[in-house]
Amino acid sequence: MNSPPSLIAQLQEIQQQIRAGSHQEAMARATLASSVTVLSIQPVATIVLAVRGGIQQAWTRQEEMGEATYQALLAETPPPKTNDRAADYRQIDNEVPVQRITCTHCRIRPGFGLCPRCQGVGVLLSDRPGTESVLDCPDCEDGFATCTVCGGSTQSRVVTVRYVTIKPLRINHVIPCHGQEALKEAYPDKVDLPSFLAYDLESSSAYRGTSADVGKDYFGFSFEDTIVRAKAFIDRLHSAPSFLVDSLQSFAMPYLLVHLVTRSQIRRRAVFCIDARQEFFLRGM
Ligand SMILES: [Zn+2]
Ligand SMILES: [Zn+2]
Repeated sequence: MNSPPSLIAQLQEIQQQIRAGSHQEAMARATLASSVTVLSIQPVATIVLAVRGGIQQAWTRQEEMGEATYQALLAETPPPKTNDRAADYRQIDNEVPVQRITCTHCRIRPGFGLCPRCQGVGVLLSDRPGTESVLDCPDCEDGFATCTVCGGSTQSRVVTVRYVTIKPLRINHVIPCHGQEALKEAYPDKVDLPSFLAYDLESSSAYRGTSADVGKDYFGFSFEDTIVRAKAFIDRLHSAPSFLVDSLQSFAMPYLLVHLVTRSQIRRRAVFCIDARQEFFLRGM
């Protein structure tokens, strides 16, 4: 099976089988009922959007730093874009002016701060086993060592640093519809959708998101309002700064929505579709 007509034919065959009384037990099992009666079968279709790219999180923080750290940060460039988009970097936020100040970390004794090794105590406990002697800290004098922020120059800068984390984005977004949960399971984010189901949303109507899109069908499977919803989702995706979209493909997804009633008169629904492995797929709801 590798074309829309053959997939449609397969779903139509399932529809005939359900009408003829087949799949009863499977539908009962899928809906956790002892037995079910079919009320109606609706051929419907939705859109699945395969989005590949990255999700970016960014935040800024004001930091005080010495000249050497500042120069090193100025020289840093964002890493090259990788295939999976994963990245973690920082850069100077140029929108906020850099301020030069007198280092705030060494005000008591200019150029010297608390020794990081002994925490400013000036002495260390001997780590030789069996002894409890105290040694003078070799890194400082009386707990003061060259300031780690300004390097002893007493000059530092207040810089706004932007931290950026990008995680890979790979989703098959099922546009909300009756069978959304079942279709999410049938087309997990990790899989690529069959190319023969590719569907051009723009060709469906000359005017984006107009009422002309509502009630369109896919080989007799009704899209209901899914085209309008899909276009609205794409607009939201493109206007959200955290989404870095490298590719976005839309696919048509026809399925059968079967309305059922159990012996104790509880309404249930079952979804029949052909999954990503092009196998028969049934889920109850
Ligand atoms: Zn020390
Ligand atoms: Zn300092």
